Amino acid sequence: MDKKYTLEYAKELDRTDELRTFRDAFHVEDPALVYLDGNSLGRTPKRAFNIVQEHAKDKWGNRLVRAWGEGWMMLSERIGDKIAGLIGAETGEVVVADSTSVNLFKLAAAALADHPERTEIVTDELNFPSDLYILQGLVKLFGNKHTIRVVKSEDGLTISTAAIARELNDKTALVALTATAFKSGFNYNIEAITKLAHEKGAYALWDLSHSVGAVPIDLKAANVDLAIGCTYKYLNGGPGAPAFLYVRKDLQSRLSNPIAGWFGHGNQFDFELEYKPADSIRKFLTGTPSILSLAAIEAGVDLIHEAGIQKLRAKSVQQSEYFIELFEHALKPLGVVLRSPRDVRERGSHVSLGHPEGYRIDQALIQEMQVIPDFRNPDNMRFGFTPLYTTYEEIFKAIEALRHILEHKTYEQYSSERVIVT
Ligand SMILES: *Cc1c(COP(=O)(O)O)cnc(C)c1O
Repeated sequence: MDKKYTLEYAKELDRTDELRTFRDAFHVEDPALVYLDGNSLGRTPKRAFNIVQEHAKDKWGNRLVRAWGEGWMMLSERIGDKIAGLIGAETGEVVVADSTSVNLFKLAAAALADHPERTEIVTDELNFPSDLYILQGLVKLFGNKHTIRVVKSEDGLTISTAAIARELNDKTALVALTATAFKSGFNYNIEAITKLAHEKGAYALWDLSHSVGAVPIDLKAANVDLAIGCTYKYLNGGPGAPAFLYVRKDLQSRLSNPIAGWFGHGNQFDFELEYKPADSIRKFLTGTPSILSLAAIEAGVDLIHEAGIQKLRAKSVQQSEYFIELFEHALKPLGVVLRSPRDVRERGSHVSLGHPEGYRIDQALIQEMQVIPDFRNPDNMRFGFTPLYTTYEEIFKAIEALRHILEHKTYEQYSSERVIVT
């Protein structure tokens, strides 16, 4: 047998992986568990335990309300600045607050309000449903004068820049897309599409949830107006950790936060009765942040900086290519199909596989093989590669587990009735 398809080869790849020691920075309770869902909930950085302990005990416990003046007030900005360094933004352009969905609401509303004469929003059918729901809600809120143009995907996996271009015109107020599609892993050309949006006078807003921490992003080079993203996926920030938002420096005075609140006020502690926004990224804050969860984000963000985003991307590329090569060898003959772009330049850090029995196969992976992927309707099995801690051995084992399940049809003992899906 070709050496490439052996466990020995996977182990050799792990031994020569220059990022291998980063796995030790994460809590791994069961080394035999194959965890390929870091793009849904990243593993726990060990330092996060210390951070939560420090903020709960030393600060909340001992310092009480004094802790606000001793760092808590500035935490959203301080961690925002660190995230800025991962996405090609500058200091003072990113802040951490609220959820991704709420941040999309804030920034999309700000963009629409700044273009009152324009009546079209462009997005696509590969987008995360919550993003579409937020846009639909905004259309109602703005008096049903907008049309959402949902660009279709010809192959169900990708969308061409030309297809977006066809939907843009001088009525377009906003182009709101997700940079890496949550199901297929397709990566947009952010720079090309932002440029097209600008040529029509529209705002470009990018959701970086499935990109940040795994795919290099350069918001400055692409001259992106607005962006949002999640911190609990590749940033390993913890369940429900607050999200981030980015507003390009020159737009900060021009755009308004639609949820004006005291944390966005220029003189928060003067308790004036009239809202006067801060003249910084702080104006996009609203209310008191969840400090314990916010503070915990820093551990994961620091680790990404320490590894370096280019090195992480290089490993992610190598891992997803390795996974696909093994798939082609072992699973394609068993009727499994690739549901992600084959060209790595068009792909983020996860790969989807399709099979008519996808749901039951997923159940078998989790319940009898100690492999955790996730599942996206209707028959999509999604495997995420988090280069800080995913090993080649895990990838090899996941493929072998799939092969075993398919060859022995062990999935047949599971119900196809959907239980809670993560
Ligand atoms: C994960 C994800 C979200 C999550 O939104 P929440 O408000 O945190 O629930 C939103 N958009 C995209 C594209 C995502 O991948």
